[in-house]
Amino acid sequence: MSIDSVAIIGLGLLGGSIGLAVAEHLPGVQTRGFDADPEVRSRASDRALVGEVCDDIVDAVRGADLVILCVPVGAMGMAASAMKPGLADHAIVSDVGSSKQGVAQELERVLPGHTVIPAHPVAGTEQSGPDAGFASLFHQRWCILTPPDGCDHARLAELRGFWEALGSTVDIMDAAHHDLVLAVTSHIPHLIAYTIVGTASDLEEVTRSEVIKYSAGGFRDFTRIAASDPTMWRDVFLSNRDAVLEMLGRFSEDLTALQRAIRRGDGDALHDLFTRTRAIRRSIIEQGQDDARPDFGRGDHE
Ligand code: NAP
Repeated sequence: MSIDSVAIIGLGLLGGSIGLAVAEHLPGVQTRGFDADPEVRSRASDRALVGEVCDDIVDAVRGADLVILCVPVGAMGMAASAMKPGLADHAIVSDVGSSKQGVAQELERVLPGHTVIPAHPVAGTEQSGPDAGFASLFHQRWCILTPPDGCDHARLAELRGFWEALGSTVDIMDAAHHDLVLAVTSHIPHLIAYTIVGTASDLEEVTRSEVIKYSAGGFRDFTRIAASDPTMWRDVFLSNRDAVLEMLGRFSEDLTALQRAIRRGDGDALHDLFTRTRAIRRSIIEQGQDDARPDFGRGDHE
């Protein structure tokens, strides 16, 4: 791999985790980083999330072989245009945004002629900010690359090698397909969690203290997802609007069918569905994408 220096823009959960993972797995690779927030930069220095924290985005990317944008999806274009004066001609520009079509279009528009290969590491937690990152975030997690048509194979192989070195398994996908798949596996589940937690907190006949007291009945697991970063998720829904609306349409139809089964007392329909969904949970655990422990094994990151 000929990536000797990496610039990380945005030093929150994803950016910080990449910096720490590079230090652990690719100790010969230099890292520089920048974040728009001076307090984040200061905390990133304290935690040594990257080798050097720069106060200027142009200095951070100067000469870097790989630049990874780790900012909210809605800020990608602005960050790309701010760093442009320092960007080396040979640099690979990538990102970690949770939606891909909109980000790819924005980066291509702002950086014509540069090698842009969007990426999405399917790894995260509900935490955000410079204290949230940890080096093992990408271990045994998928990283989806969405190269544009005509992408140089050698550059793609370099980026693949980088993510594999951090412990990820890489998949290559068309950006539109990525957005459809992630709408159903990530974006709609977040929307449902935000809805149910919002509904529960608005209920007048159930007090807030009762909601919290009896949360172990299922609600608690939704609150973990609904605690995710508001800026990040606002941007994901605005940028992946079409795929989310399509999947939401299908979800609404299935919910209506379930509503009908309950109203008609159709226990067989309910039992059949709940049996199928249990099998999906088993497959996820068998493929190492989650943990069978009641806390999903998430209590032991750091
Ligand atoms: P985060 O912890 O909030 O970190 C993002 C950082 O970027 C913040 O410190 C933010 O500063 C900074 N920033 C915003 N605009 C900037 C700009 N123009 N230039 C430089 N820095 C800027 O968020 P995250 O969870 O790491 O998410 C980052 C990206 O990863 C998002 O695109 C998200 O979709 C993607 N992603 C997230 C997850 C997840 O589970 N969290 C998983 C996979 C992918 P301010 O706070 O001051 O705005």
